[in-house]
Amino acid sequence: MLQAYKYRMYPSREQIVLFMKHIHACRFVYNNSLEQKIRAYKQEDKKLSCFDLNNRLPTLKEEHSWLKEVNSQSLQSANKNLDNAFNKFFREKKGFPRFKSKKNPVQSFQVPQHYKVDFNQRTIKFPKIGNVKTVFHRKFVGKMKQATISVTSTGKWFVSILIDDGKTESESTPFSSDTTVGIDVGLKDFATFSTGEKIKNHRYLKNSLKRLKVLQRRVSRKVKGSKNRKKAIQRLSRCHERITNQRNDFLHKTSFQIVSENQAIAVESLNVDGMMKNHHLAQGIGDVSWSTFFTMLEYKCRKYGKTLLKIGRFDPSSKTCNKCGYLKKDLVLSDRVWVCPDCGTHHDRDINAAINIKNFALKNFVKISGMEHAIEPVDLPQ
Ligand SMILES: [Zn+2]
Repeated sequence: MLQAYKYRMYPSREQIVLFMKHIHACRFVYNNSLEQKIRAYKQEDKKLSCFDLNNRLPTLKEEHSWLKEVNSQSLQSANKNLDNAFNKFFREKKGFPRFKSKKNPVQSFQVPQHYKVDFNQRTIKFPKIGNVKTVFHRKFVGKMKQATISVTSTGKWFVSILIDDGKTESESTPFSSDTTVGIDVGLKDFATFSTGEKIKNHRYLKNSLKRLKVLQRRVSRKVKGSKNRKKAIQRLSRCHERITNQRNDFLHKTSFQIVSENQAIAVESLNVDGMMKNHHLAQGIGDVSWSTFFTMLEYKCRKYGKTLLKIGRFDPSSKTCNKCGYLKKDLVLSDRVWVCPDCGTHHDRDINAAINIKNFALKNFVKISGMEHAIEPVDLPQ
């Protein structure tokens, strides 16, 4: 089974320069390859494979000689990532791969192999970079796969090492209707369960929004390029980082609890990208981070031998009476409670949806497959 181990690193000044070169080069290759892929498709109706893109690397290095200073396997990883992004796009029919920006709060690159971990010396040796000081708060046993090196906007460096422990995945625990829970996620409550329980939305971002606004205003008042502006930006980044950490902590705890209390979990696949275009909803959705939550549920289910059941987003989960199957077509988003005209049952909108999600999922048992992306640490950018 694959598992990621993440450690804090303390690179020297010289090593930071080299790390940054790798980050810039990998982003450059990624964006350049994306451009080539789009062009080849538009002009020649041709699909460039990862192999084609890697074959272009030597020419690209001749045109941009600074790329030669970088581990070429890291550059190939950038192409591989792009390939994965396209596969995901075709498989899940959403999220066309985007160009990577140097303004992304977390920047990263990968070293697929030939790096050495030394627990005693507390270092990791990377090709073209050398021994980097690392804090190993826990050890791992197994075969090292790729390492992902990342830096946050506040300048903290991390490495995430993917380990294959050689064990086979634990068999899924059998489940029945009694041990399955349906979850409906929403803006009002973070999650509503088919059992009737609800988890409140913590909305860290909303609470800290005032603070963020103040800090943002301070940045915009400072003269561009000044030292004070740099300081203000640092403060703003730290605030962002704190919110992200709090949010991930909340999502980790919540998903862990759900996975440990149930044998199977039913969810509705959401069109988060489509919803984000609605600006009124965007703040709330960005805030609650459902996609991160679902990713956590996926890999935790896998890790603990539980089953994740997913239903399509076109199933009318809110509008169908879970008792008699009546479809209330005129139900609008503001209707929080409703009475079924056919059987007279009183419904809480979200609880009814969660029960329907559970029932639909159990009826059309579709286990999520192709979860290789789920093992990635969730706070790394894609
Ligand atoms: Zn009914």
